[in-house]
Amino acid sequence: MYFHGTSQVNDRGHLEIGGVDTIELAHQYGTPLYVYDVALIRERARGFQTTFKNMGVKAQVAYASKAFSSIAMFQLAKEEGLSLDVVSGGELFTALVADFPVERIHFHGNNKSYEELEMAVQKKIGCVVVDNFLELDLLQEICEKNDYIMPILLRVTPGIEAHTHDYILTGQEDSKFGFDLQSGQAKEAMEIAVKRSHLDILGIHCHIGSQIFETTGFKMAAEKLFDTLKEWKEESGFEARVVNLGGGFGIRYTEEDSPIPVSRYVEEIIGDVQTHVKKLNMKMPEIWIEPGRSLVGDAGTTIYSVGSKKEIPNIRQYLAIDGGMSDNIRPALYQAKYEAVLANRVNDKAEETVSIAGKCCESGDMLIWDLPLPKANHEDYLAVFCTGAYGYSMANNYNRITRPAVVFVEDGEAQLVIKRESFEDLIRLDLPFQSKSKILK
Ligand SMILES: *Cc1c(COP(=O)(O)O)cnc(C)c1O
Repeated sequence: MYFHGTSQVNDRGHLEIGGVDTIELAHQYGTPLYVYDVALIRERARGFQTTFKNMGVKAQVAYASKAFSSIAMFQLAKEEGLSLDVVSGGELFTALVADFPVERIHFHGNNKSYEELEMAVQKKIGCVVVDNFLELDLLQEICEKNDYIMPILLRVTPGIEAHTHDYILTGQEDSKFGFDLQSGQAKEAMEIAVKRSHLDILGIHCHIGSQIFETTGFKMAAEKLFDTLKEWKEESGFEARVVNLGGGFGIRYTEEDSPIPVSRYVEEIIGDVQTHVKKLNMKMPEIWIEPGRSLVGDAGTTIYSVGSKKEIPNIRQYLAIDGGMSDNIRPALYQAKYEAVLANRVNDKAEETVSIAGKCCESGDMLIWDLPLPKANHEDYLAVFCTGAYGYSMANNYNRITRPAVVFVEDGEAQLVIKRESFEDLIRLDLPFQSKSKILK
């Protein structure tokens, strides 16, 4: 069994996180329940930041908030000195309500609306990561109107795509994001941007993928970016002050995954960058990175109540829980794998192999296939590990299932940070039907 962060078994045989008994949490807040290990989030945030500091590299570590965004999470990120990536007006709004320092907010997205860009400008956020030519025009127009000079990065596609264990090198990167390097699109964008009166181009950005376990892909991408910047400097005199290498650092969901510590990602990638920059005889720019999953993924655990069981002799045993693709769509969306234990009997020996089914009306709503577990019934609780990233943020109301509550635990104390949705919440936006039927009853 593998425990993340402060997770452990207490003397009652219960799963404990942050010094809090998860079964007590289940009784108090109900299930399904997301439990976040705050100490582990802090440890990861500090791991990234300290390594940059130790290497003498000026950096910003921006939490890619799409992994899990909420007011409390943004306040924690602020407390830890992180910057923040947002990708929509809604995430930006949440950050503003959380009183997140605007100068450390970066706005991403391949199709930001006029209203979203206007909001970013009026709130004077720290940086817009410009993705396309339309955005270069809109942003200039909005900045002129609002008399604000917006710092920007250009998102480029370096033609390297990380596939967790391997990398695909494509001449012409086929991606909906960013300016293509190969065809000269990126350079054209840079030349436009430097001429725009209300855009202050800081540098370039790339993000090569997600759940990446080694540093080769990042290094390949970084070298390509710096080679490009060298060229731009020689040909156009443009000098980058910031290079953003994106996120995508992998975490351990199951024993199949073998990530390296966050400090080593930074040491290896930045060490390589320093060598490369020296070789090219360039000034070291400020480095930004954008971890999402690696900051919050394994800090989250979902506690479910076990419900019905179905046994098909000689074929399979299904064990159903009181959630599913409504609170964790990743298995259905991309066959994501998870580990789980009975939260109230962690030390009991596994006696059978079961498959964990969600409660949604969808055969594909399966959380875990072939999980060894002690014999369980409806009085038991299942803890699924590593649900902190892209769990709550992708939660939905399919079947009008209400979204679970979220609690933060730390130092033996729990606090509710997102309330469980109520039935009233579900119909909040519904309006009654005004019948135009002529048939009178
Ligand atoms: C999603 C995303 C990230 C974070 O990815 P993780 O795999 O969660 O670390 C960072 N940067 C950009 C631009 C992204 O789209």
